[in-house]
Amino acid sequence: MDASIFGNTPLQQCSYLSEKYQCHIYIKKEYFNPNHTAKDRVAWYMVKDAITKKLIKPNDTIVEASSGNTGIGIAYLAKQMGYRSCIFVTRNCSKEKLKSLQALDAKIVLCENSNGPLDKNSTQYQARAFTKINNNSYYTDQYNNPENCRAHYETTGPEIWEQTSRKITHFFAGIGTTGTISGIGKYLKEKTQYIKVVGVEPKGSILAQYKATGRVIKSDTEMEKIEGIGRKFVPGIINLKAIDQIIQVERTRTIQTAMDYYQHTGMLAGFSSAAVLTGLEDYCIDNPVDSRDHIVLLFADYGDRYLNSLYHTLNIKKTAYDEKFS
Ligand code: PMP
Repeated sequence: MDASIFGNTPLQQCSYLSEKYQCHIYIKKEYFNPNHTAKDRVAWYMVKDAITKKLIKPNDTIVEASSGNTGIGIAYLAKQMGYRSCIFVTRNCSKEKLKSLQALDAKIVLCENSNGPLDKNSTQYQARAFTKINNNSYYTDQYNNPENCRAHYETTGPEIWEQTSRKITHFFAGIGTTGTISGIGKYLKEKTQYIKVVGVEPKGSILAQYKATGRVIKSDTEMEKIEGIGRKFVPGIINLKAIDQIIQVERTRTIQTAMDYYQHTGMLAGFSSAAVLTGLEDYCIDNPVDSRDHIVLLFADYGDRYLNSLYHTLNIKKTAYDEKFS
């Protein structure tokens, strides 16, 4: 596998947002990776590590619990490199992601939830259980695998630092496994003590409380569904020192933000990217920013993965092709 196909994604200033907030705002466009998400980097690091440590051999099955994007990265590598893949996803995984997994020959197992290794119906529990009873399978385990953070510490972090000419003052990312923010945040904090690293998750997730109090507060509140981010358990790889603050956002407002962004830029932000935009808006209410600030927003994927969910209300005209084949 040619490692140079991963990463080195563009960072582009967004004139709409820069004008709106009167500072420099850049988007780190992770959808320029081969499978259009930041998770390509992570899948590559985890698989490379397993190969180096001789934990997998040709034809073995690589197993992952995923909201879809890491699974797609794993399935792609498995298909390219002579392995099989088995991906545990929740029932509300977008149709587009499921189709991509199918196209990459992944075995897909639909689970009730993604509530962590203690819940028997979760993707994480089921993935581990599958690996235990199936010889010749290996669980990459992105929630506990240090390669998840390392991928971002060694690649995305340095890219952002150089692409902003070392001027970055704020970094925002959605958080799920926390690998992105833990790896990039660690790198940027080693470079500058002035950086603010802000995570964004949906209402009902537990990591904002955990960051603020160091405790996990059990709550029965349903988690608002924003694909890719939000968890009911603390991932083993979380690096709290790399994160300054975690902001919670509402699903309905995030959908509205995605629509506004689309109206102004013509771009379809991914669901978690729209959450990052909502988090930025809230952050700026309490923490005014000014023209000296250089803010980077990580867009983990693109809105074409959510045409049937986030963007289903858009009036997308049916083409002659759709009429014939749908
Ligand atoms: N956005 C999307 C679209 C994702 O797929 C993920 C990963 N689940 C995230 C954000 C969160 O990234 P991380 O797991 O590194 O915290």
